[in-house]
Amino acid sequence: MDTQIKKNDMMDVFYQHARKNGLKLTPQRTAIYEELLKAKDHPTADDIYKRIIKKIPNISFDTVNRTLLTFSKIGITNVVEGYGQAKRYDSDMDIHHHFRCIQCGSIIDFHNKEYDNITVPEEIRKQFTVISKKVVLEGLCSKCRKG
Ligand SMILES: [Zn+2]
Ligand SMILES: [Zn+2]
Repeated sequence: MDTQIKKNDMMDVFYQHARKNGLKLTPQRTAIYEELLKAKDHPTADDIYKRIIKKIPNISFDTVNRTLLTFSKIGITNVVEGYGQAKRYDSDMDIHHHFRCIQCGSIIDFHNKEYDNITVPEEIRKQFTVISKKVVLEGLCSKCRKG
């Protein structure tokens, strides 16, 4: 898929979502979302802050952090399970799964049709309302395996 087309589509989705939720589209918010969209490494608020400050030198960490929390609240971004560490954000709202490296903490996306169609055990379905299914595999990434 053409990444530029996908990016423009995603910006449209972002504008629509923001409008629907009464979120004012400030240049800062737009820049934060663009940065998040570019990131494929499931960045923390701090990562995004460090990247965006190069473009908007007067932005504060607090603004970045609060904006990301707002984005996840209105459903325009996902929060990757944090394992007690800083929240990590994921702008990819399509079904995908994660491989997490226990050594360096990288979170790498992967796709797998079988995992997408995994069935929820009946006892879980009885107890809870399941709204999404994600598989997280853990181990060593290719870089850490070599080292
Ligand atoms: Zn690693
Ligand atoms: Zn992801």
